[in-house]
Amino acid sequence: MALIVHKYGGTSMGSTERIRNVAKRVAKWARAGHQMVVVPSAMSGETNRLLGLAKELAPNKPGDAYGRELDMLASTGEQASSALLAIALQSEGMESVSYAGWQVPIRTNSAHTKARIESIDDVKVRADLAAGRVVIVTGFQGMDELGNITTLGRGGSDTSAVAVAAAMKAQECLIYTDVDGVYTTDPRVVPEARRLRSVSFEEMLEMASMGSKVLQIRSVEFAGKYKVPLRVLSSFTPWDIDINEEAASGTLITFEEDELMEQAIVSGIAFNRDEAKISVLGVPDKPGIAYQILGAVADANIEVDVIIQNLSKDGKTDFSFTVNRGDFARAVDLLKDKVLPSLGAQEVVGDTKICKVSIVGIGMRSHVGVASKMFRVLSEEGINIQMISTSEIKTSVVIDEKYMELAVRALHKAFDLDQPAA
Ligand code: ADP
Ligand code: ASP
Ligand code: MG
Repeated sequence: MALIVHKYGGTSMGSTERIRNVAKRVAKWARAGHQMVVVPSAMSGETNRLLGLAKELAPNKPGDAYGRELDMLASTGEQASSALLAIALQSEGMESVSYAGWQVPIRTNSAHTKARIESIDDVKVRADLAAGRVVIVTGFQGMDELGNITTLGRGGSDTSAVAVAAAMKAQECLIYTDVDGVYTTDPRVVPEARRLRSVSFEEMLEMASMGSKVLQIRSVEFAGKYKVPLRVLSSFTPWDIDINEEAASGTLITFEEDELMEQAIVSGIAFNRDEAKISVLGVPDKPGIAYQILGAVADANIEVDVIIQNLSKDGKTDFSFTVNRGDFARAVDLLKDKVLPSLGAQEVVGDTKICKVSIVGIGMRSHVGVASKMFRVLSEEGINIQMISTSEIKTSVVIDEKYMELAVRALHKAFDLDQPAA
């Protein structure tokens, strides 16, 4: 008998019929002798609906207290789906109980709308499991020191599930979603994308942080830190398929590179449309400018991603970086009002119509020329590269958003990702 955590995403929980299907699947696992903890997302569209209502009432994000109320609001989506799943399980003849994050409790810091999990108390959950109940724990939410409800950022139910699995030392955490695993790239954009039977933790981390939304990045970080065995698989297979077949399906995130069955140089392509570029032009080229610009941005709690400083000409240079699109207007205002005057720079310009495309693969460590092949493929398609950033196992480029699909398809083909692994 093993302790298993299942996580079901919004589409998998999208209707009462689907919730019943989830309940039947979970009941099958419980009847096979496993202790089951299930972490559901809100029903698909519900989080957007709730946040949309808030936006209608307050388009301009009124002050610091707003985040707290957004979390009060958005967390109800998971509370509803969790109760519905417990009810569906009960109607399948399984004893089941659901808990909101604050009831477990799942403790987080106070960073509303992007809180981080600090600890999970599993006493109640263990007692229920010992009494033979299936335990449902809401995804996406927790409670801060003062008892405020917090949420973990969009897609955060993945992180709830992995954190629960880590805290309870579960045998495996299964992430059920609307695709049957992790693909070489988003199969919605490239139909030729191929499912990977396994992917290394490091590659998954890069893919998630470069924009593959199949797993929230923090869930991968948690899995890495606590070595949680993690698998991504489909919730749309018939619920009554053989449990061993189901347990071996999808994509396994592996921690040992040697275990990898597929040793491609490039394993996947990620893309991200959520960033915007800011350029500070005509900056006097002297020590301390990066600090003056990026320090002010960091002090405003705005994360910076790709950074580039041009060669200086006549003692002046241009300094560009990308931020999340949601922070773009704030960052530009801040630079114009607070930084430009003291910096003696000419102007701040922005571009929200960019995207970042990344190739990821641990094979890049031992192969030269991978990045240059990427640049060649893009040039053959006539795509201009605005910025480049590299790490040991990835190369990212910032390009015009309108070329995103073209770039992803061309790279997918050029790196033979549509071919079955050797
Ligand atoms: P859930 O609601 O189950 O959490 P998400 O929408 O968050 O589901 O994540 C699943 C989606 O991630 C897929 O439908 C797919 O479009 C997208 N996706 C992006 N990149 C990949 C990838 N490399 N492999 C598989 N799916 C991907
Ligand atoms: N319901 C939340 C969202 O839509 C969390 C999740 O689905 O993982 O972002
Ligand atoms: Mg998700």
